[in-house]
Amino acid sequence: MQMDLPTLWYLTLGTLLVGAAMTLWERRVHGHRSRQLGLWAGSYVVFALGCLVAMNRQAFPAVTGWALSNVLMVIGYLMVWHGAAGLDEPVKATRSALAVAAVALLWTGVGAGDVDLLWNHVAALPIALIAGLTAWTLVRSGTVAGLRSRPVAVAVFALHALFYLFRTFVSPLLAAAYGNEVLAVVAKATMYEAVLFSVAMPMAFLALIREEYQAELLTASRTDFLTGLSNRTGFFAQAARLLKESRADQPVSLLAFDLDHFKAINDRYGHDAGDDVLRLFASVARETAGADGLIVRLGGEEFAVLLPAHGSKEARAVGETVAARFAERAVRRDGLGIPATVSVGVAESEAGRCDLSALLTSADRALYRAKELGRNRIEIASPAEAVAAA
Ligand code: GH3
Ligand code: MG
Ligand code: MG
Repeated sequence: MQMDLPTLWYLTLGTLLVGAAMTLWERRVHGHRSRQLGLWAGSYVVFALGCLVAMNRQAFPAVTGWALSNVLMVIGYLMVWHGAAGLDEPVKATRSALAVAAVALLWTGVGAGDVDLLWNHVAALPIALIAGLTAWTLVRSGTVAGLRSRPVAVAVFALHALFYLFRTFVSPLLAAAYGNEVLAVVAKATMYEAVLFSVAMPMAFLALIREEYQAELLTASRTDFLTGLSNRTGFFAQAARLLKESRADQPVSLLAFDLDHFKAINDRYGHDAGDDVLRLFASVARETAGADGLIVRLGGEEFAVLLPAHGSKEARAVGETVAARFAERAVRRDGLGIPATVSVGVAESEAGRCDLSALLTSADRALYRAKELGRNRIEIASPAEAVAAA
């Protein structure tokens, strides 16, 4: 295979500029990541400038061509790292500025005789370190944890760091053993790897940002805006998972809640006070049953709690505690000062045979009975109600 070095430089330059353009385009869509995407797009442009200088380094006086190219590259890698670290929280630029100054100083102190040693080997070390740091930052990042494209992004930077460590420490040994012709091969390999890296890096970052955005949308579509609880969609998705994981030899219960005369509360205290009552109920339910069960705002002033490994008697105790705490806190003068109560229906499914829709229907029937019997009370679904529901 014949690989012409200038062609590889031009290719790298082109892919970097395309990467920058695509990243800037994406920035329009992902406004909340505009800083990171801006840093990355900027870094690709800086890399491209570094490539341009490197391709024409002989045209600059003394060592300035080599020095400028290397300093630009280091700035580019630091911008990449700042973007990656900023996914969690922005990092101050002071240390990065010092690192750039150190590299510039190194070049300033170098006589013409050491240019090859520096260019071929030493200058690769800061690049290896910053690429390694970027890989490590992505490994540690809480923001991208769990995203499918995270391992890909980590691998891109880890492999790049390894390649530059090879340039720093292994290629001088190879050159010493087999002669300087080895360096020509290493130079081509470097540019070949640069082409791949300049494609893989923007792709990996764009994949991370898009996936993060998708995850946010998915969470929003499954969350109730007012209370922060799961909504109906989220509840069914999570409940299916929870039921799959729960033991087949234990019953599952469901509590259905409906706030009493809630329309009258809205009418008397106003809609905002009604919202406060809904939020209060959600927080009481969360702190009372959150560890054991899955809570959902089904809609309006209706909530439910799914309780795996709970029989109807235990579930009833949970429901009574929620109802008592809610009523007590709602009316308290240092709280909302609103007399509010809730009616509850309980349904239990046989071990290993939980049909969520049927369970909801039978809990609803028990709830309806609680309303009919005067509200502010808890009723357990009779076997007949359970069978009728199923
Ligand atoms: P019952 O005791 O029979 O359940 O009577 P109710 O008044 O609670 O029941 P109804 O279904 O007649 O009224 C429910 C009210 O809940 C009507 C609606 O305006 C109100 N509501 C629904 N969603 C919200 C909300 O997000 N915020 C507020 N403040 N009110 C809401
Ligand atoms: Mg209702
Ligand atoms: Mg109601």
